[in-house]
Amino acid sequence: MQVLEVDQLQKTYRSGGKTVEAVRNVSFGIESHEVLAFLGANGAGKTTTIKMIAGLVLPDRGQVKIAGRNPHQQSIALKSVGAVLEGNRNVYWRLTPEENLEYFGVLRGLSGYVARQRAKVLLERFELMHKRSTIVQNLSRGMQQKLAIAVALIHEPQLLLLDEPTLGLDIEATQTVKRLVREIAGEGRAILLTTHQLDIAEELSNRVAIIKQGEIVAQERTETLIQKFSGDSYRIELE
Ligand code: ATP
Repeated sequence: MQVLEVDQLQKTYRSGGKTVEAVRNVSFGIESHEVLAFLGANGAGKTTTIKMIAGLVLPDRGQVKIAGRNPHQQSIALKSVGAVLEGNRNVYWRLTPEENLEYFGVLRGLSGYVARQRAKVLLERFELMHKRSTIVQNLSRGMQQKLAIAVALIHEPQLLLLDEPTLGLDIEATQTVKRLVREIAGEGRAILLTTHQLDIAEELSNRVAIIKQGEIVAQERTETLIQKFSGDSYRIELE
């Protein structure tokens, strides 16, 4: 089932007399069970694309459809999308994991009872139960990232957006986050993750879209892309 359709998205930022065409004519789709890696260098337009899909930034042109509906018109993003932005900006640092999960559960439309039940299940599943009452800023970076993903799943969204999910994590936390990404896709959710590391894309995704200066310059099944990389023909695209 097609969960996400992105058609000709466009975003230009204008600030302080400067104009940046951050995203140009970006189109792609993701099905349930599928992980699409958005691969590109810093400043390529990955975060801006994620923000438009999450309904945080309005596109200048183009359309996003989640399960066939426009997130900007019908608050679909609140119900159907979970997003983890870089730096865990989707959690409150002075609340505990349990408080964050319950708060965001209710914010996403769950009853207090259901939010509490789901919070418990997620705390167990993400191995955070023993830290449920510690404020987020006192958790390790890996635990903060696990919590950020748990919070993004509290309303059981069809689509999960992960901006550089393993950036700055140690080896153990990186392995845990990778395992969780595979499990979450295995449950039937669609995942869009951004990365500037080819090995992350290779390990986690079924398909890769390479973005360069705001434009998708290649979109391939991951195995095909890796074969091409080993033949060196794509190396130039990321630089
Ligand atoms: P990074 O990994 O560094 O976040 P990215 O691929 O996610 O890179 P974006 O953050 O989407 O890229 O940025 C794309 C371009 O748009 C960059 O040139 C960036 O400086 C610019 N940009 C992003 N947000 C804004 C903003 N709010 N105002 C002005 N320019 C912006």
